[in-house]
Amino acid sequence: MILNWNGNSEKGCGLDVHLLKLIVLYERLSSRNSSRDEVYGELKRALAGAAGERRTADLLERELDLGSEFKIYRDLSLPYSGGYAQIDFLLLHARLISVLEVKNMVGEFHFDPVNFQFHRVIEGRVEGMRNPETQLHRAVKASEKFFGTKVHGTIVLSSRSGRVAAPPKLYPIVALDYLPFHLEGLVDPDMKLKLDDFEVLLRRSRGHYNIPDLLEKHKLTRESVEAGVRCLGCGRLSCAWIQRKWRCSNCRAVSSDAHEFALQEYAVLFGLELTTEFAYKWLGIHDKYVLYRLLEKLTVKSNKRGIRYIVENNRLVADHFKGIYS
Ligand SMILES: [Zn+2]
Repeated sequence: MILNWNGNSEKGCGLDVHLLKLIVLYERLSSRNSSRDEVYGELKRALAGAAGERRTADLLERELDLGSEFKIYRDLSLPYSGGYAQIDFLLLHARLISVLEVKNMVGEFHFDPVNFQFHRVIEGRVEGMRNPETQLHRAVKASEKFFGTKVHGTIVLSSRSGRVAAPPKLYPIVALDYLPFHLEGLVDPDMKLKLDDFEVLLRRSRGHYNIPDLLEKHKLTRESVEAGVRCLGCGRLSCAWIQRKWRCSNCRAVSSDAHEFALQEYAVLFGLELTTEFAYKWLGIHDKYVLYRLLEKLTVKSNKRGIRYIVENNRLVADHFKGIYS
């Protein structure tokens, strides 16, 4: 079973929460916004990363034979030297814990064993990048401290068009196809871990070591993203509520429930709490009775005046963007 940080099964959804947030954020930054290129770069890397991790998880579920049940966790943050370390991919088994650093990259990889720099050569160009080995080392150290036991680390090449020219020094690097055999070789017969205990531990720490918020990271506020109701026909934020329907000024599509999608986009970016004041702006509504009617079924009242909670259905947003971004 594949779990994300929320403990929800990710299978079938195909988009994790962080990736979904990146997509919605990017889709709501105007071309004039100075953070847009940076967010796009991050989104591209996240999409490649997610594809590699998904392939890895699928292969392990199919082929890995450790003699008993194992669990895969993705996108964990664990405490590490006053901050946190991000663990993209963790495999838990009674006789093996392993962190995987999945690299879905093409080109030729050069790990520098002396100063731990890293670069890749792609189409003759040299590109300096963050060293996956250093990142893995942090993840392994943080996990060892958190679980109180030995944790293995492996760099996985999930793309067949990647080639290692100079290997890393501290950790093995293996091609995805070989990974099950590699992991099976790491099983320690003397180890006896209780997976349930670890799960409790992970759940308990949930929320304490969250990844810094995406909007904060890019110095964006609620005001710097574009408000509006998206037309699912043409994808633009160009719907207006006219004569009891959402009408797209761009492609002329008509819808009666486009506001539900807009509310779920809001929830992905900012959470479930919504002030009525901001709801006017987000949906582009001026009339309070219209707003009330639109929010009535899709949100619930809070006991604070002027604040409602969106009934979460991020699946709606994930399903739509999955078709566009995969
Ligand atoms: Zn349209």
